[in-house]
Amino acid sequence: MTAALFPLFADLRDRTVLVVGGGAVAERKVEALLDAGARVVVGAPVLDVRLADWWREDRLQWRQGGFVDAWLEQAWLVIAATDDVAVNQAVAAAAHARRIFANVVDTSALCSFHVPALVRRGPLQIAISSAGGAPMLARHIRQQLEQLLDESVGALAELLTHKREAIRARFPDLHLRRRFFEKLLAGPLPRLLRQKVASEEADRWLQATLDEPGDDQPRGSVVLVGAGPGDPGLVTLNALRALNEADVILHDRLVSHEVLRLARRDATRIEVGKCAGGQSVGQARIHALMLEHASAGRRVVRLKGGDPFVFGRGGEELQFLKAHGIPFEVVPGITAAVACAAYAGIPLTHRDHAQSVRLATAHCKDSLDTLDWAALAQPRQTLAVYMGVAALENLQSRLLLAGADPGLAFALVEDGSRASQRVLTGTLAALAHCASHHRVRSPALLILGEVAALASELHWFGAAPLPSPAPRPMNLPASTLSQAA
Ligand code: SAH
Repeated sequence: MTAALFPLFADLRDRTVLVVGGGAVAERKVEALLDAGARVVVGAPVLDVRLADWWREDRLQWRQGGFVDAWLEQAWLVIAATDDVAVNQAVAAAAHARRIFANVVDTSALCSFHVPALVRRGPLQIAISSAGGAPMLARHIRQQLEQLLDESVGALAELLTHKREAIRARFPDLHLRRRFFEKLLAGPLPRLLRQKVASEEADRWLQATLDEPGDDQPRGSVVLVGAGPGDPGLVTLNALRALNEADVILHDRLVSHEVLRLARRDATRIEVGKCAGGQSVGQARIHALMLEHASAGRRVVRLKGGDPFVFGRGGEELQFLKAHGIPFEVVPGITAAVACAAYAGIPLTHRDHAQSVRLATAHCKDSLDTLDWAALAQPRQTLAVYMGVAALENLQSRLLLAGADPGLAFALVEDGSRASQRVLTGTLAALAHCASHHRVRSPALLILGEVAALASELHWFGAAPLPSPAPRPMNLPASTLSQAA
């Protein structure tokens, strides 16, 4: 992947910008630069009609002739817009030597800055860039945004600029100010502006809202949100809303970057990933953080992989909040069993193969000892095992001892719903061997049951399922083998 360009909006008022070229392309660039208040110098042997007009009107300076280095002397930026490749190259090289940012029209390899496609509404500007790689796509997206954004957005930006100081003075606290803006933008003001009320009236309306006695010490709250398995398309609309309103996001390590990117940019993100072994310490710290931020009046999102109530300790967290009088909401998410099954092409139930589904966890010895193995080994069901990577060998031998069919199909789904997803398939007798052979890592979900065999037929996402390697010499439970060794 190429490194991202760093976006910036430059203040060019009264700063010299050199444009090399006197034709139509140069003219478009000059027009935009003049709009931005730049002091424009055009270097070219001849100027087209409009450029010549602007020159006569004293709106730009003209260096007549072929490019020479000295033209760059006062420049902050330079744009090469000639149709002569050698001239454009010379301009780029001279600018580079002087550390002046250069744009060479239509030659992204020579550019040290790019000019984005632009959507403009008053002081509000949206710049779109494909780093020079796909300008047509950038233009296409620009058109879509043009349709999406009403003209009145410009008036709104104008009004907010005008009232900025008054709003800051009324709400010095950042969190309160944010809430004021959210209420304002969700209220009637945008509509008033769409209906083209006079700017004085919009101004009066905003001032009246500012003068209202406000809720100056809002109560904090916690929303327990399920982030799903990783694919950001699997986040619910309610989760998206909560992420956009959050002041603070406490998230698990399991939550994907793509999902976190959906959250409001200036929300404080705190990773509270728990490492195996240190769980209780981790949980106490999570409780303390929720309490601290919610008590300070912030809106906290407690973001968890999958669903918060499926092996997510969501229940404990709500009990803690309840005991401390903090209001809460819950937004369910798509749990790993449902998502991994879907993304591996495994229907969890099927009239021919499974009438019930069991979700189980096998993350420590205690949970293995208390599971009802006889029930888990029953036929005509699907078993989904969470947090089982480290316990697969144990799991395999206990199931076989409890009478499970060694030929029963399994699928192990690693990194389900993400680009890195892998699906391994085989039969119970080969489970642990297969997982260690393919070096399966967490997060991975085990699906055991006849339906798992359908993955080879119904897979649709990512790579095809990987089969098990050649079996070990005997079909004995893996633990028996390791004891013998
Ligand atoms: N609350 C979560 C589960 C947390 S327990 C949920 O509802 O999904 C963590 C376990 O979930 C992992 O060890 C793994 O077994 C499973 N898991 C979560 N996300 C996964 C993913 N994208 N792919 C495979 N397994 C996943």
